[in-house]
Amino acid sequence: MNSMKKYYLPILILLFLLSFTAILFAQDTVSIYFLDVGQGDASVIISSSGYVAMIDSGPNEKLILNHLKNLDISHIDLLIATHAHADHITGMDKIIAKYKPRAFMDPGISHTSLTYIRMINAIEKYNIKYYQSTARKIQLGLMNFSILPSANPKIYVSELNNNSVVIKLEYKNFSCLYTGDIERGRENQLVKISSSNLESDIIKIPHHGSSTSSNSAFIKKVNPKVAIISCGQNNRYGHPNIKTLERLEKNGIDIYRTDINGTILINTDGYNYEIMVEKSLSSKISKKVININLATLEDFIQLLGIDEMIANNLLLYRTLNNGFKYPEEIKMVLGIGVWEWEEWKEEGWIIVVK
Ligand SMILES: [Zn+2]
Repeated sequence: MNSMKKYYLPILILLFLLSFTAILFAQDTVSIYFLDVGQGDASVIISSSGYVAMIDSGPNEKLILNHLKNLDISHIDLLIATHAHADHITGMDKIIAKYKPRAFMDPGISHTSLTYIRMINAIEKYNIKYYQSTARKIQLGLMNFSILPSANPKIYVSELNNNSVVIKLEYKNFSCLYTGDIERGRENQLVKISSSNLESDIIKIPHHGSSTSSNSAFIKKVNPKVAIISCGQNNRYGHPNIKTLERLEKNGIDIYRTDINGTILINTDGYNYEIMVEKSLSSKISKKVININLATLEDFIQLLGIDEMIANNLLLYRTLNNGFKYPEEIKMVLGIGVWEWEEWKEEGWIIVVK
């Protein structure tokens, strides 16, 4: 009997550990929502390990509280107000009262509006830990929020907009840049001060795609694959500006808009990501991004026409050539041709190298 126990115990422990790690890895993801809130910004970031961050709350209290309820949000770890305009902070007082965030951050530039005063009063009333948005890093599990340097010198043109909190979210190899409503003045400062830290997979385009933002030098430094524009249908400002859209398109950047696509969801495991939208004008409702320099055998097999043998050819080619230099180089691999490449594009795959 004793020998039985000795024999079984280690196996049971090993099995338990194996299943536990499998569950951990299976759930290790981050979901980023760019919520459809009309003419304004609101984004919620949820990690599978249970951390929740929120950047801005949009222009409509009822709408944002509904969104949070529908997402089943039970707590907020980090709440950021990029700046004090009503299209970014309406309902913040109610959100603070309901979810009691562990930390709150804003640029520390006050406004005379009632919406702003209510937000600040709620922070005091519920004793929420307050941070001003000076350059710092905030770690939530495996997510890292880098707050980029605040405007220096302070910009007095479009003061609230230009002094918005700018945040780079990083999760393993994935990154997303939040830019509030910054305009050309701050973009130029960021290109000078933080140029090496701007590059991101995804950008939340500044100031709802207005003509005063997204200048070429800034967009080139960020070098995103995907741009998110948060704005309302037929808004009175004419956001997004046609020139901004043309500039993004010219740089080969895929554009998603809350006025057209509704709420936009990005799911990532930290290496690859997929984009899902609520509404779509074309038949494609989702796009998936695969980074062929990091993809595993299982990732490659998701692509049409790739079986295990071709996936192994891909891995071998990648090793022998020290990675792919550009996406279309994948066509050099034995078993992959123009047909496969065209089919993947048809299916909505975006092939990237990094
Ligand atoms: Zn705004």
